[in-house]
Amino acid sequence: LPVVAVVGRPNVGKSTLVNRILGRREAVVEDTPGVTRDRVFYQAEWAGKDFWLVDTGGWEDRVQGVAYRVAEQAEVAVSLADVVLFIVDANVGITTTDEQLLKVLRRADRPVVLVANKVDDQRGELEAAALWNLGLGEPHPVSALHGRGSGDLLDATLEAMPEEGRGSAVDRGPRRIALVGRPNVGKSSLLNRLAKERRVVVDEVGGTTRDPVDERISLGGKDWTFVDTAGIRRRVLQSQGADYYASLRTRAALDRAEVAVVLLEANEPISTQDLKIIDMVLESGRALVLAFNKWDLLDEERHAQLEREIERDLGHVAWAPRVNISAETGRHAERLVPALERSLESWDQRIPTGRLNAFLGTLVAAHPHPLRGGKQSRILFATQARTRPPRFVIFASGFLEHGYRRFIERRLREDFEFTGSPIVIGVRIRE
Ligand code: GDP
Repeated sequence: LPVVAVVGRPNVGKSTLVNRILGRREAVVEDTPGVTRDRVFYQAEWAGKDFWLVDTGGWEDRVQGVAYRVAEQAEVAVSLADVVLFIVDANVGITTTDEQLLKVLRRADRPVVLVANKVDDQRGELEAAALWNLGLGEPHPVSALHGRGSGDLLDATLEAMPEEGRGSAVDRGPRRIALVGRPNVGKSSLLNRLAKERRVVVDEVGGTTRDPVDERISLGGKDWTFVDTAGIRRRVLQSQGADYYASLRTRAALDRAEVAVVLLEANEPISTQDLKIIDMVLESGRALVLAFNKWDLLDEERHAQLEREIERDLGHVAWAPRVNISAETGRHAERLVPALERSLESWDQRIPTGRLNAFLGTLVAAHPHPLRGGKQSRILFATQARTRPPRFVIFASGFLEHGYRRFIERRLREDFEFTGSPIVIGVRIRE
């Protein structure tokens, strides 16, 4: 379900508005099995459409300063929400705290609905109109307390909600691949092998006339874009600083790609440079496929050794699909395609909030968070805030141990099969 977050400085009437929107429905909210939910997330409905309503006022913490909690609150809301309801007090106008909030909201690419609260009569509507100059579009005058204008506000909120399935793979064009690896692993040979007898279109990257040239290659009946193939085909001079430029180039390629194929050499030990390149991929948040090249040179002894090296050095990316190929002979090169598809599918995957919390509820019930100083952490709720790569936010009260977060991450990976994609887990703690 889409998530609507209610944001505003203290005392503008967030909770009153939340209660107004929920009406009597509030009592039947806690329907996710096993998860103790605090008064923060509510399931709401308007005009036949269900959504989650988040009262970020519940996150206001009394210990730190106003500026801190306002920024934090907005950040939480933005990381979660499909739509943000930004509430201001029409009687007071815009304060410096409102402006701080606004700054955070502006940076984020989310639809914002501007709510002018405490407009109890017609005179107040004039004051609300002054809020046009915030540049957030039409201010919606409401009285959360009396209900005035709340129907129109909800209509506007539904309108601001993104269409389901927006940005689906269909209209995105060919998926973008960065083929990376240290010099001489066979990137250029693999590219030539893949491009052989297939339609290759060379694109200049929009706007730049410099090096980065992409190639479109048709594989498995689909077009793919290999980014910065000029960087692969043009041999880097083995002079001083070549490593530095190669690594800049890798970074730039990753930046523009969706999935990385890290090419490694099967007949040579896994090197620190290989591991560095893998780290760069992990940092970039791109989907990952590992390809071991020059398989034709492998003998049995080296094969056994390689398996041991993989176990020792690549445990942290054990979730990435692995293909063993030879660019020279063409062996298994076609297996790259299903691996790429699998990884991108995971990278795009979105777990519905209900399923996620059902999973979490069962998990937490079966394996409770270990006590700390006799106290129990409570996992309140989780939601997937983003895809590409999947990013989850877990809300807990008190504390959440690093080890327990890793445990949740591992189980999420297994249960929802995030093969080939990194996943990110953020934690929000309520005192
Ligand atoms: P790049 O620097 O990663 O682009 O590597 P190249 O594609 O230039 O390959 C480096 C060397 O390895 C060349 O001499 C290739 O012929 C050789 N090579 C590439 N792939 C294979 C392979 O699968 N098997 C064997 N035997 N040699 C390969």
